[in-house]
Amino acid sequence: MIARHLIDGRWSPSEGRPSLAVINPADDTEVGRVLLGDAADVDLAVAAASRALPAWRSTPMTERIAIVERVSDGIAAQRERLARTLTREMGSPIAFARAAQVGVALADIAELIAAARAHVDRSAVSRSLVVSEPAGVVAAITPWNFPLHQIVLKVVAAMLAGCTVVLKPSEVAPLNAVILGEIFSEAGVPDGVINIVFGDGPGVGAPLAAHPDVDLVTFTGSRDVGARIAEAAAATITKVALELGGKSAAIMLDDAPIADAAAGVVRSCFANTGQTCAALTRVLVPRAQQAEWERALVEAGRSWIPGDPEDENTVLGPLASSLQRDRVRAHLAHAVADGAVPLLGLAGDPADSAVPAVPAVGAWQEPVILGGVTPEMRVFRDEVFGPVLTVSVYDTDAEAIELANDSDYGLSGGVWSADTDRAIAVALQVRTGTIGINGEGLDVGAPFGGVKQSGIGRECGVLGFEEFLETKSVMGASGTL
Ligand code: NAD
Repeated sequence: MIARHLIDGRWSPSEGRPSLAVINPADDTEVGRVLLGDAADVDLAVAAASRALPAWRSTPMTERIAIVERVSDGIAAQRERLARTLTREMGSPIAFARAAQVGVALADIAELIAAARAHVDRSAVSRSLVVSEPAGVVAAITPWNFPLHQIVLKVVAAMLAGCTVVLKPSEVAPLNAVILGEIFSEAGVPDGVINIVFGDGPGVGAPLAAHPDVDLVTFTGSRDVGARIAEAAAATITKVALELGGKSAAIMLDDAPIADAAAGVVRSCFANTGQTCAALTRVLVPRAQQAEWERALVEAGRSWIPGDPEDENTVLGPLASSLQRDRVRAHLAHAVADGAVPLLGLAGDPADSAVPAVPAVGAWQEPVILGGVTPEMRVFRDEVFGPVLTVSVYDTDAEAIELANDSDYGLSGGVWSADTDRAIAVALQVRTGTIGINGEGLDVGAPFGGVKQSGIGRECGVLGFEEFLETKSVMGASGTL
């Protein structure tokens, strides 16, 4: 069966239309098909969202919240089906899919509802009344690595703010969005408020980002596509929110608890098979403790054994696609050519005996830890988006901060120290949108997003909700409305 677009509350016909295979990266089998949309589908969806806007924006917040609560209940009721679908379409180990892929999406919704409830959309300032209004018709374009979480952060926040939406999910992992579309319909989301168009970037993403009737484009994905989207939106001065890549550093101060910190940074890097935008991928360690750190990191890395993602005990699945596997392999080839030293993984290294060989069929990649990595090497700068951790040394805290900041990206980071005040003082000097202390990596109640080339805007919680609002000042009206 071919999954169809959801436009104006109806599943569009699929007869005679081209479709796209969804491939299980664990074994390269086809697990489903979705329609391959085009610019005409985008036009229909944007028109439906525009028609639905006046009624939805004037629907009372209490009613919007009630519908979103039913969406959340629907996701909770379908947790297992969603998790299994995510496992099959992008290789997420089943236990991780339940807890992190679906579980985080539910936590996102709870925080967004709290933000919407607490929001005051009329306040008096000076002689004016300041009013929040929905941004309008939203185009949401999402990636495959945490597909449900990324869709929910955009679509639910936009709905709560009174916006209507055209969603283009990733073509690599679109099947969870099909289930979500059913949940929206069952929850009573009015026709046209949420529309879903399946397809690829050039065929659907590009015309959606450039559509003149879209008021805001919210995108999560790669830096390069983000730049193209901003360019397309610039033609009509359309507002953009971009959540892009990262190359985040973990600064291990000289009093950090080595075994715990090594396990924590390896988890951050290897979870989701390294396909996490905020993953800590560059470990910076004091030169005097280099040998001790390398031993501890390899020790921690050895427990990340690739396995069948449908097995309850698996922690490391395949990469999401064979394209992603090829990209990771190319990054590794560059790293070795540039002189990085394999500490764990990559054929020929003694530590390999601890890591079983990965299957030949499927998008498998063994975890890799590389030592001796310096800022001149490509692997120090390029986002790999796979289970590849690099280790670099520093002499002073100031140099560690300089190395952490030596990146075009500025998404996330981490600092480990026995002294929390010292860790915070260092964290405040790292130019990123988020940073964790001693392993605190994700808080969906706090704003999430990047500086520098990691993006524009924030998702999650209050700021993630306000992203979908515009502010209007009604001058001279204070006290009269
Ligand atoms: P991608 O940029 O290739 O694709 C993302 C989405 O954009 C997909 O839906 C794709 O179809 C669409 N797209 C592709 N070309 C397009 C075009 N020309 N116009 C409009 N849309 C287009 O990214 P990906 O490979 O799906 O995801 C991996 C990237 O996402 C990584 O770089 C990662 O760091 C980033 N990411 C960032 C965050 C964050 O919150 N900052 C979160 C997750 C992933």
